[in-house]
Amino acid sequence: MIQSYKKKYELADAYDTIIIGSGMGSLATAAILSKEGQKVLVLERHYTAGGYTHIFKRRGYEWDVGIHYIGEVGRDKSLTKKIFDYVSDGQLKWADMGDVYDRVVIGDKIYDFPKGAENLKAMLKQEFPSEEVAIDKYFDLVFSAVKAGRTFFMEKALPPLMSKMTGGMMRKDFLKYSRKTTLETIRELTQNEELIKVLTAQYGDYGLPPSKSSFAMHAALVRHYFSGGYFPIGGSSQIVETIDPVIEKAGGTILTNAEVKEIVIEKNRAVGVQMQDGEVFKAPKIISGAGIQTTYQKMIPSELVKKHKLDQQLQKITPSVAHICLYVGLNGSPEELNMPKANYWIYPKEGTHDENVAKFIKDIDNPFPVVYVSFPAAKDPDWSNRYPGKSTVDIITLMPYEEFAEWEGTRWKKRGEDYEAKKEKLSQRLLETLYEREPQMRGKVDMYELSTPLSTKNFVNYEKGEIYGIDHTPDRFELKFLRAHTPIKNLYLTGQDIVTVGVGGALAAGLITAAAITKKNLTNKVLKATY
Ligand SMILES: Cc1cc2nc3c(=O)[nH]c(=O)nc-3n(C[C@H](O)[C@H](O)[C@H](O)COP(=O)(O)OP(=O)(O)OC[C@H]3O[C@@H](n4cnc5c(N)ncnc54)[C@H](O)[C@@H]3O)c2cc1C
Repeated sequence: MIQSYKKKYELADAYDTIIIGSGMGSLATAAILSKEGQKVLVLERHYTAGGYTHIFKRRGYEWDVGIHYIGEVGRDKSLTKKIFDYVSDGQLKWADMGDVYDRVVIGDKIYDFPKGAENLKAMLKQEFPSEEVAIDKYFDLVFSAVKAGRTFFMEKALPPLMSKMTGGMMRKDFLKYSRKTTLETIRELTQNEELIKVLTAQYGDYGLPPSKSSFAMHAALVRHYFSGGYFPIGGSSQIVETIDPVIEKAGGTILTNAEVKEIVIEKNRAVGVQMQDGEVFKAPKIISGAGIQTTYQKMIPSELVKKHKLDQQLQKITPSVAHICLYVGLNGSPEELNMPKANYWIYPKEGTHDENVAKFIKDIDNPFPVVYVSFPAAKDPDWSNRYPGKSTVDIITLMPYEEFAEWEGTRWKKRGEDYEAKKEKLSQRLLETLYEREPQMRGKVDMYELSTPLSTKNFVNYEKGEIYGIDHTPDRFELKFLRAHTPIKNLYLTGQDIVTVGVGGALAAGLITAAAITKKNLTNKVLKATY
């Protein structure tokens, strides 16, 4: 059972590894190390475990925070599915979202993204018949970039000396794709602005519009969903619920309400962590899955940050986008409300994604550059068993942190009337966007609550409310220090910052960090395991 640091809890006499944070990367690392015989202590500052995979409940509803759909888990042989099976002992089950996973709306025009790369290609060719050659080349590039990524990401598990010797070779192919932006790459194939807008319609999944994102990130993301979208049966909480027993079986523990204040470093070696209340836990290996910026800025004494040149690393990275999310509770089951399973990506008719983002950042009274609508209640076949006669919707758009910075330092739920008024105005705009697409939901809304970048900072400890860790620009993929090893002995990183955003990215980071620690190639073991 997951225990709380605030209540009476039981610990093992000693742990082999301490992991800071309980996001997907941390949980995967913990479970894989547990299967290698290690006792792992996972320390999570929030009152609930899971990082962005956590859920929260209000007034008889439940919402997922950072999971709307996962790709590749419908294919038994995919590495993503294999790792999920491995870390949950095959207990985590997935529901298929059906034939269409994303519904892109540009003005009044709708483009449904169907499951299967060939089906998606066919849809695009039907909509853009004069662009057949460009579309074929685009798919080839996506597949090539993803293939080149295999060795690029594997390299991140190598110890520094081996990385110096073989790293260049392993990274080289991928860099051909990552060094160009998404827009540069696609513009070499087509000048059709509507097609570009459709091909890059999922940019919100990695947070940067086409002129700023690396094509390699774009390729990884779109490829991830080619085989459809899936949702955890029983909701996102099933991720931590099914992984916890694997950690506990080996003698490990997950503790919530357990905020690490500082990583204890003696003679240039990480030897433990100090908690906010002064308590110290020691272990031979320390891993942080709390994000590279949070770890280096908040948990390492400043003189050591300088000494190990971590400040120079921090100068090279930029935080990703922040967001607002309207969590809506509705009267009526998903069937009664005729709720779709596919996610909406709703865009203004005019302007490119880049132009619309720039306009919105300048003045948030301009149209939302993107509105993403997800219907978790419709995706989870177990939902109505838990919440009969009710449904939920999440409505998201990006939001500069600065828009809410003036309330920094105020307390959750006590930020004042101006803050609430700003939230209410944004909430109504988001609700109207929902009603335009799904008018039958008007009058059915029972409650709603808007999260802001300050909520993200409060609950997940990302300083600027960033939802995707560090930005996925071409420069990011040049940074060799985004890897499992750190310059401090026995201190390792895991999570989205060392691979890419996404539950799949963080999950892969778990395998990478566990491989770095055990010095074993664990991929074969994971691929061969059956459940
Ligand atoms: C709104 C939103 C929607 C998303 N939708 C999807 C989606 O549909 N599909 C998908 O694949 N991905 C999605 N993602 C991305 C995905 O959720 C993340 O990339 C992934 O979960 C990040 O995992 P992580 O391991 O890096 O850790 P995180 O989830 O970032 O967790 C880090 C943890 O560290 C903890 N921590 C921080 N500081 C401390 C400390 N001092 N002491 C102890 N603990 C600490 C935090 O509380 C947190 O729990 C979404 C993300 C967001 C925000």
